[in-house]
Amino acid sequence: MTGGIYAALGVRRIINGYGTNTRLSGGLMAPEVMAAMAEASRACVEMHHLQAAASRAIAEATGAEAGIVTSGAAAALLLGAAACMARLDPGAMNRLPDTAGMPDEFIVIRSQRNMYDRALRAAGGRIVEVGIPDRYSGPGVRDASAGEVADAITDRTAGIYYLAGDAAEPPLPDIVRVARARGVPVLVDAAAQLPPASNLRRFIAEGADLVCFSGGKAIGGPQASGILAGRRDLVSSALAQMLDLDLPEAQFVAPAEFAPLNQMRFLPHHGIGRSGKAGKEEIVGLIVALRRFVAEDPAQRTARWTNCLVPLRDAVPGAVLVPDGAKPGLPLLELRFPDRAAAERADAALRARDPAVHLDASRIRRGVLAVNPTALDDADLPLLAAALKECCA
Ligand SMILES: *Cc1c(COP(=O)(O)O)cnc(C)c1O
Repeated sequence: MTGGIYAALGVRRIINGYGTNTRLSGGLMAPEVMAAMAEASRACVEMHHLQAAASRAIAEATGAEAGIVTSGAAAALLLGAAACMARLDPGAMNRLPDTAGMPDEFIVIRSQRNMYDRALRAAGGRIVEVGIPDRYSGPGVRDASAGEVADAITDRTAGIYYLAGDAAEPPLPDIVRVARARGVPVLVDAAAQLPPASNLRRFIAEGADLVCFSGGKAIGGPQASGILAGRRDLVSSALAQMLDLDLPEAQFVAPAEFAPLNQMRFLPHHGIGRSGKAGKEEIVGLIVALRRFVAEDPAQRTARWTNCLVPLRDAVPGAVLVPDGAKPGLPLLELRFPDRAAAERADAALRARDPAVHLDASRIRRGVLAVNPTALDDADLPLLAAALKECCA
């Protein structure tokens, strides 16, 4: 509950019961993570050596061959797309986002189009949509089929983008099968697919070539951090396109974690990912947060979150603890209103307070507000309970 720096800057602090949204500044970091970042800020290193350490930590947590820390999952998507297009060709790296002469199409299942797939286009990629997710006409029962995805693969295909999630169809292993048959990489956006912690390994185990996660969501790392994990050749290409390689060529020897970079014909200049660089503080913070996330017993994490919601439930008549439908192990506190207008009035009253209270409003159309515990500070619970009592009872 230390809002001192924000008060000094004239910025109103919020109580974040929405979750780790970017616009609400992500989540909170454990003191151990902050201490590691502060320590990292007091000494310098060569960035590819630090990314090699990150690769070892990410490989251990995910089962992938290699990994790097990026400035977020969106940056990981951009870099992953750049890697699928340029591979280990430094000339192609130098040309992106101009894709002349490279495969640059990313197949995206139409029902999986989302606000973050712009990262593929930011790298120079072009999106090719597949499937008709008929939800509204009545007779629609299908999403895209793996056969339709296979049919869209041509020699212009750079990769297949797959948005992981509960409702994702067809299942990832079916997509991997058709992609492998044609030698096309599959890039999985799993930015917000934690918990369950088992998802750190799941998509790699199912055959994804690249997977990205947010560092600033459930993992509890810096807000501006993310993970790109996967095949060593592709992760190495992504790293080359974020690093500053302005050094005499003979001086650069890629560590074993990124050994494929030693095969490049020459060193590329600043790549497409240079404008989203990750700093040493974020890399160290992410490594420490990832280790803590993996080490915490999932049942204990759920109990910790539940304990945080119980006093809030007891403060509001009719509030109910429910499991989050999409994230096993994450409890939510639901506040149910008679209709949308009543929920909107309560939401507005909560946001007008100081500190402002933001709740998960994703189901406000159905008259539901929810408290998500992921970004809550225990020290704020009495203040939050009082706010809910006043605005929602
Ligand atoms: C949050 C999110 C991202 C972006 O993650 P950042 O770490 O904020 O860059 C990308 N894709 C999905 C599906 C997300 O939920």
